[in-house]
Amino acid sequence: MKAVGSGHSFTAIAVSEEVLVDLSNYDEIVAIDKINQTVTVQSGIQLSKLNQALYENSLAMQNLGDIAYQTIAGAISTSTHGTGAKFTGIANQVVALRIVLADSSIVECSANVNAQLFSCARVGLGALGLISTVTLKVVPAFNLAVIEEPMRVDDVLQNLDLHVDSNDHFEFFWVPHTGWALTKRNNRNNLPIEPMSKMSHWYSKTLMENYAFGAVCMLGKARPSLIPKLAKALPSSGRNEYSDASHKVFASKRIIKFYEMEYAIPREACAEALNRVRRMVTDSGFFLNFPVEVRFTAPDEIPLSTASNRESAYIAVHIYKGMNYVPYFKEVESIMNSYQGRPHWGKLHFQSAATLASRYPQWDVFQAVRNQVDPQRMFSNQYLETVLGK
Ligand SMILES: Cc1cc2nc3c(=O)[nH]c(=O)nc-3n(C[C@H](O)[C@H](O)[C@H](O)COP(=O)(O)OP(=O)(O)OC[C@H]3O[C@@H](n4cnc5c(N)ncnc54)[C@H](O)[C@@H]3O)c2cc1C
Repeated sequence: MKAVGSGHSFTAIAVSEEVLVDLSNYDEIVAIDKINQTVTVQSGIQLSKLNQALYENSLAMQNLGDIAYQTIAGAISTSTHGTGAKFTGIANQVVALRIVLADSSIVECSANVNAQLFSCARVGLGALGLISTVTLKVVPAFNLAVIEEPMRVDDVLQNLDLHVDSNDHFEFFWVPHTGWALTKRNNRNNLPIEPMSKMSHWYSKTLMENYAFGAVCMLGKARPSLIPKLAKALPSSGRNEYSDASHKVFASKRIIKFYEMEYAIPREACAEALNRVRRMVTDSGFFLNFPVEVRFTAPDEIPLSTASNRESAYIAVHIYKGMNYVPYFKEVESIMNSYQGRPHWGKLHFQSAATLASRYPQWDVFQAVRNQVDPQRMFSNQYLETVLGK
């Protein structure tokens, strides 16, 4: 038996060989506690619906990833994260869970009740039970002042700590075949918003980031040798400065389909690792039409969180749908292996339990809880057998 959220994982993590439980209609807000700043939701709620409900109550999630199509249960189960060196992934915002276990018992868990189950089930890969409700710690609604700007990637890497530490949410996209990075600096405030005009938003976010970029990808797929020339057009997207409500800035529309692999590595290894990826791209002759995304998070103590017990940098590589991603992703993965890289559980990779176990200090804690709550492996599938073992 496997629960599926929005089915937005690139891996087969939500695939069931037998019973698939679709909780997309189990998606209501159960309670909002404004005094304690918590929200309890049914597990199938999409982040977009949750964000809107919080916004209407002058609240917000502490941090988010790039999109909001995921369900809350799906997002936490795979260690979904955004960027911000002072902020953790979404799972660490969870303060309580209700879970249906393999023996059909319904269990509440939090830091005080069934603490070990709670600790593991926040990033449970769907392996420990069916999550019924999720309670999250939220914050007063806030705005983000955004500066999007191309910079030379060498300059970004030379001043990386400054960028990461002096902005609440810093990320950048290195454009392969160029010396450019598209940077994004988001800083939290409570000033009145100054959103992009509808026209600028359509031009920048819909036309350039989706349709024009999609056309460039299609052209590159048909004639890969054109990709390096086409890539030079990307940094010309220019500088944008605006501010808006946090959830509107963090998450955006994605129309283009792609394959993705993402690795969490120790933050201090980021510049060296990215430079190795850059050299590998030059030496290999790969034609790459998608930028490489780089983000940062604070550590947490969740056993299978990709940021478990270490400050992390995330390096994500993408390939346009329909193109062969395997050789490129394998090359990147071999670089990430030398930094004890931890793959995003919902994104493509080639690891197994044997290669992953030593990369998580609390691996055995998770395995012990799994053995205790699901000894018959009711919630397993082929993917989980590969990454967690039978
Ligand atoms: C375009 C795009 C952008 C993305 N951006 C980001 C990003 O910015 N940051 C990031 O970290 N990731 C990102 N991801 C990855 C995405 O956040 C994860 O793959 C996430 O798990 C998808 O959520 P979902 O609801 O689709 O879950 P699914 O893919 O459907 O399921 C994921 C896991 O959750 C389990 N699950 C779902 N519901 C339950 C439940 N009720 N009880 C128990 N287990 C459950 C499933 O069994 C499975 O193991 C992105 C993916 C896409 C396609």
